[in-house]
Amino acid sequence: MFENQLIKEILEKYREIWAIGHAQALLEWDSETYMPREGLEERAVARAELSLLAQKLILKPEFVELVERASGVEALNDYERGVVRVLAREIRIMKAIPPRLLAELTKTTQEAMYAWRVAKESDDFSKFKPYLEKIVELTREKADCLGWKEHPYDALLDLYEEGLTTRDVDNVLEPLARDLKVILEKVVSEGRFPRKHPLEDVKYERSWMESVNSEVLRLLGYPLGDKARLDVSAHPFTIGIGLGDVRITTRYEGFDFKRSLLSTIHEFGHATYELQINPSLKFTPLATGVSLGVHEGQSRFWENIVGRSREFLEFIYPVLRRNLPFIEKYTPEDVYYYFNAVRPSLIRTEADEVTYNLHIVLRARLEKLMVKGEIKVSELPEQWNNLMEELLGVKPTRDSEGVLQDIHWSMGSIGYFPTYTLGNLVAAQMKYHMEKDLNLKEKIASGSFNELKEWQRVKIHSYGSTYPPKELLRRAFSEEYVPEYWLKYLREKYLSI
Ligand code: MG
Repeated sequence: MFENQLIKEILEKYREIWAIGHAQALLEWDSETYMPREGLEERAVARAELSLLAQKLILKPEFVELVERASGVEALNDYERGVVRVLAREIRIMKAIPPRLLAELTKTTQEAMYAWRVAKESDDFSKFKPYLEKIVELTREKADCLGWKEHPYDALLDLYEEGLTTRDVDNVLEPLARDLKVILEKVVSEGRFPRKHPLEDVKYERSWMESVNSEVLRLLGYPLGDKARLDVSAHPFTIGIGLGDVRITTRYEGFDFKRSLLSTIHEFGHATYELQINPSLKFTPLATGVSLGVHEGQSRFWENIVGRSREFLEFIYPVLRRNLPFIEKYTPEDVYYYFNAVRPSLIRTEADEVTYNLHIVLRARLEKLMVKGEIKVSELPEQWNNLMEELLGVKPTRDSEGVLQDIHWSMGSIGYFPTYTLGNLVAAQMKYHMEKDLNLKEKIASGSFNELKEWQRVKIHSYGSTYPPKELLRRAFSEEYVPEYWLKYLREKYLSI
């Protein structure tokens, strides 16, 4: 895979950087799962110092020079070129942001996350406003440092989804918004899917759902114990510590059991991507999923397209029946409608498949304006509420259910939200192309999940970060981000005609 001498030299030097990343991943996982609360202070310092150390190693003049030399070499294979691309990009981003700005951003976001929590709890935007103003100001400066051609938002989008531009986002999200509104109105007026289901309020014992989650993961072929773990955290996540050690978490609220199961299946989708990367890429910068959008495509494929399908819910019905005593009152058909209730709601994280992307359209529109300086932070709450009414037909009466609901902006993550929608699009795109090669419904109904995973491995997963996201999609599907498949999927599933 790696033949070129220069690349071999780079990879040898890269090992110590990889090792720090490996340790960092384990520290992060531990921080979110088992670390006792008072470990926080020392852990934060240790992680910050390790980041600095990794940065120093990557920016070492000898290392930078090697990468620069390699980028001039023409006779490289795809994997070798991938190594150079990923490292050159990391170096470029690190060099672009001056240490003073980075320090200021880190300090501001740490304070802002606290202020956001207080503001949300007391439902008072004014407590968060000065911090968000500062974050927007620093983020605009960051975009300028990173460089952009058409729109400063481009520089930020690229951080989360390599090569993504404002133009891409507009081309995808705006037509999507228009068609989603029409679909939503029809779904609601047809009334075939419930707005609310009684199972949403039914309580469960944590041990019941622990059994459901691990049994379902086993049916999906998740290598629990061998290469993978399932633990618990406040916000479910997946972390690839190595190609032979990928861990997911889930949560147990004690009611509305689908939330726990869908979170588990979502993270299983992320984990499958990491687990199916070609083992020859071990220890290299290519040994991870390429971008947030492509990653989210894998998780949403399993969560939504598989996990919320009639075939899947019928397949796992016996598992539900065995572990959840209240299920005996409900048929598989009832369970299907419980998993697929549709209602325009105020909160993004509780949104269904039909309305979810409208929440993202709203955030992307506001982010674009913020980054360009075309909207004042003080105007955000009102603009938010107006857009909610325009897009979803519901209007928040409190900022905690409106502009204050997400943590992202307080963390300085501006440009992140669109990757959630890209994930949905990629999921439906995979479904469309997969169905040309295999009978998806039949495979799901018979629990033949390995065939789905194998298809994903060959088309997407095995490459890790070898190709940038758009090129990966072009190679797999001869196209990039296409909103039509998602709309087609929704129409077929939710509309009678
Ligand atoms: Mg995810």
